[in-house]
Amino acid sequence: AKSVYTFGGGAVHDDPRAKDKTIVGGKGANLAEMAGIGLPVPPGFTITTEECVRYLQDGADFSDALKTEVAAALTHIERAVGKTFGDAADPLLVSVRSGARVSMPGMMDTVLNLGLNDATVQGLAATSGDDRFAWDSYRRFIQMYSDVVLGIDHGMFEEALEIAKEDRGYLSDTEMLAEDWQELVAEYKRLAEGELGHPFPQDVTEQLWGAIRAVFDSWDSDRAKVYRRLNDIPGDWGTAVNVQAMVFGNMGDTSATGVAFTRDPATGERAYYGEWLVNAQGEDVVAGIRTPQYLTRDARVAAKAELPSMEEAMPEAYAELVAVFDLLERHYKDMQDIEFTVERGKLWMLQTRSGKRTAKAALRMAVDMVGEGLIDEVTAIKRVDPMALDQLLHPMLDPDAPRDVLATALPASPGAASGKIALDSDLAEKWANNGDKVILVRVETSPEDIHGMHAAQGILTARGGMTSHAAVVARGMGRPCVSGAAAVSIDMGARSLKIGERALKEGDFITLDGSTGQVMAGLVPMIEPELAGDFGTLMQWADKHRRMKVRTNAETPEDCRMALAFGAEGIGLCRTEHMFFDAGRIMAVREMILADDEAGRRRALAKLLPEQRADFVQIFTAMAGLPCTIRLLDPPLHEFLPQRDEEFADLAADVGVSVEHLKRRAEELHEFNPMLGHRGCRLGITFPEIYEMQARAIFEAACAVSAKGGDPVVPEVMIPLVATKRELEILRALVDRVAAEVFAEQGRTLDYLVGTMIELPRAALMAGEIAEEARFFSFGTNDLTQTTLGVSRDDAGRFLAPYVEQGIYPRDPFVSLDVEGVGQLVRLAAERGRGTRSDIKLGICGEHGGDPASIRFCEEVGLDYVSASPYRVPIARLAAAQAAL
Ligand code: ADP
Ligand code: MG
Repeated sequence: AKSVYTFGGGAVHDDPRAKDKTIVGGKGANLAEMAGIGLPVPPGFTITTEECVRYLQDGADFSDALKTEVAAALTHIERAVGKTFGDAADPLLVSVRSGARVSMPGMMDTVLNLGLNDATVQGLAATSGDDRFAWDSYRRFIQMYSDVVLGIDHGMFEEALEIAKEDRGYLSDTEMLAEDWQELVAEYKRLAEGELGHPFPQDVTEQLWGAIRAVFDSWDSDRAKVYRRLNDIPGDWGTAVNVQAMVFGNMGDTSATGVAFTRDPATGERAYYGEWLVNAQGEDVVAGIRTPQYLTRDARVAAKAELPSMEEAMPEAYAELVAVFDLLERHYKDMQDIEFTVERGKLWMLQTRSGKRTAKAALRMAVDMVGEGLIDEVTAIKRVDPMALDQLLHPMLDPDAPRDVLATALPASPGAASGKIALDSDLAEKWANNGDKVILVRVETSPEDIHGMHAAQGILTARGGMTSHAAVVARGMGRPCVSGAAAVSIDMGARSLKIGERALKEGDFITLDGSTGQVMAGLVPMIEPELAGDFGTLMQWADKHRRMKVRTNAETPEDCRMALAFGAEGIGLCRTEHMFFDAGRIMAVREMILADDEAGRRRALAKLLPEQRADFVQIFTAMAGLPCTIRLLDPPLHEFLPQRDEEFADLAADVGVSVEHLKRRAEELHEFNPMLGHRGCRLGITFPEIYEMQARAIFEAACAVSAKGGDPVVPEVMIPLVATKRELEILRALVDRVAAEVFAEQGRTLDYLVGTMIELPRAALMAGEIAEEARFFSFGTNDLTQTTLGVSRDDAGRFLAPYVEQGIYPRDPFVSLDVEGVGQLVRLAAERGRGTRSDIKLGICGEHGGDPASIRFCEEVGLDYVSASPYRVPIARLAAAQAAL
């Protein structure tokens, strides 16, 4: 297969690899695609990702075959443009651009204006008739090439430019004349030679291969690795290299460069949205060096900006751009993120890709595009990342709360966040690891800040536009971000800052509203999110297309109400022990645990019965007839024991025994390995009175609710940590006996189910037999993961991260189900359970019930429902629909 594919300039391929993202990368594939539909794309060629992988693996030099293919492709560009690479009279210049399968913003490095040297710069000046432009391009090239390819710190060049301007009394780059740039080029070359020990490379072929090598190498740079780890991108994909004829946005006032989105990436509104700069090149816009101009007149007027919009300054190129927007949206059927350049009035397209967007925008665009007939419901469902919904489900600033607004800047990424100010990314990460909420405040961010941005609740930058690094990355991560806050001035030496007039220091609390751009002092109260509108519409579509039910893990009426608002269809796990910790009850619980005999335990349990019954009445009332799985007591009893002396003293006084006696009893309860100790159904076997009380509370509550005319609940009584059929047999008989007693007392009979959790490998293996006693299984994948991997979930924090980093487990197995291993047990238990009892109800109630990848697996195994924490319910609804499609 070929290693190089040309695009533009009339190139045609019948080889599908020429437009395959996995082969030519996203950027290369889309450049070829755009050229193919007739858009103006400067001609170029792409070296495949396969070559990158080969290069990084073998470390060897480039093969002769590759060199031959590149030479031929270069000739294709030369013919199309009518210029020759390295020709002193009329040189072809190229850009060398990275482009992986998925876009990795700012991760890989680009070199522009390649092919310039002391001879070709003269040719460029002559053919363009613009000396200033030629020397400006050359100094840009030396700086970029030195930085990206030769590893020379760019700070040196920036300083030299500052000095050059100062010497001449200039305030901005635009005042630099041709001869000024020419002198600076000489200085740059001196600086580079000083660093290199040899002259800056003048041979254009050497320049080209140096840049190709640098792009390949950048795949394994630290910042690329961090980005890949955070985004689950495999390390063996590699990047393609795009070599493309240069077009020039820096050829004076009829030239420009810009970036645009076909719809607003923050709100999803159908409005052209972008930023551009006159007489500028490449990354000037994103780098935040000059303040970019607005694309449309309306946007400029709304922002009260002085510089003209593109619509006003270059109406013809703008009209062409708008036509391209529409064409691209119709072609790709999605919102596009575009990079373009205008060279002396002529528009050129340099990139398109499906644009990153906030969750809010993703929803709005998906729903709007169905309305516009651009896509169908199924596509809309598939297009929204379930995890991104998380951004919308979380609290926003209370609009009625007072705000002490320090500054208002660009609303770069929506959502609200509060936290302590951290002025560098390492500190932000450190504080976040200690459990603090942090706002990262920087002049501007760079790829070196990724870890700090990830650790922070929100990001505030003093510089940069809506498409700055900070804005793009924050939107991708779902972090609220306010950018371009000129009112922020940071004094790194003193670790302090001023926002407007207000002096603050690192560690002070601030609040950001990434939807309005406000920066506020202190902590501002937040309110619950809005669940109607586009969110509601997409959820309805998802509900139509999913097979699995979605329940919630909840144990308080507030949890239940929240989960119902989020669309829960029942409770998949009600952990009764959470109710035991309430202030009013813990005494009775402790009395029960420390009692000397059954009679003592029963006395204490009698005090707990009305409390538990009242809890269940509230829950059953809230859930109004939906199924409720209630797990009987599970944790080791010592978790409830008094710790401090006063607690022992209080209890001793209450029960009327000595403190010493209680302490001795507590010591007797000590276990070496409580997670594998006296817990779960083992409690029910040894102290049946505990489960009797709980079962009684459940059935009495169910009768009470149905007596009041409430929707009849169907309690699903769940026995935890079962390993053998016999355990379940004994405890099921107990539950049945209590149910019969309660029904006889109350004079009414209700439906109920008894079932078990499958959370021990033995239970999974014996599921066929256990199903004889169980009407339902709920996979308790937290414990099942713990017991199958032999990894204590409470201790895993110390070693699991390095495990994931080294790829021993692809993801944290407590977050995303270990489908390969633990998944086998789930699959096998489901099959064996169904083999015995064809209508057995199957669900999952571990943390995994809210993780989209795990949900996909649950669909595959054919579970009846997943259960997730209330905030995760919408995520699970969407993920379940995607899994079913
Ligand atoms: P990134 O992946 O970081 O966006 P790109 O390869 O897209 O990097 O290059 C960055 C910018 O450089 C582009 O947005 C464009 O403005 C400029 N650029 C790249 N290639 C060319 C070219 N052939 N002619 C003019 N400008 C270019
Ligand atoms: Mg780009």
